[in-house]
Amino acid sequence: MPWTLTTEFTFDSAHVIVGYDGPCGRLHGHTYRVRLALTSERLRPSAHVKRAVMVADFKTLKWAKKDVEAGGLDHAFLNDLPELGDDTTAEVIAAYLHRHTLARVRTDLPDGDDGADLKLRVTLWETPDSCCEYWE
Ligand SMILES: [Zn+2]
Repeated sequence: MPWTLTTEFTFDSAHVIVGYDGPCGRLHGHTYRVRLALTSERLRPSAHVKRAVMVADFKTLKWAKKDVEAGGLDHAFLNDLPELGDDTTAEVIAAYLHRHTLARVRTDLPDGDDGADLKLRVTLWETPDSCCEYWE
């Protein structure tokens, strides 16, 4: 994979891990840190430039940084997201970020490009010293 596009950002959200026997079972919040690393075998055009000069647009990767009312995860109550529900662990949120980020990147692809060479690695820090990685 010749190119890896990497970006990092944070979002602040509340959650509760329903059924957890301990403090994580009570309503609390985190400043989550996200690192997204998207690898590609070739360059492509994006929604904002027609020439094949990008892996993807950074704007597309950073969707989750936006306020929840604008479609992101900032200032969300994560348990309100139907795909997460009671299971708002770092592991489940990382997989959610992976699924939704790749879907957004694929939306920007030109007709006839299935993006099969695109591989995304998500790292999600719940605290400054604890993170989860997810990739396929
Ligand atoms: Zn927590």
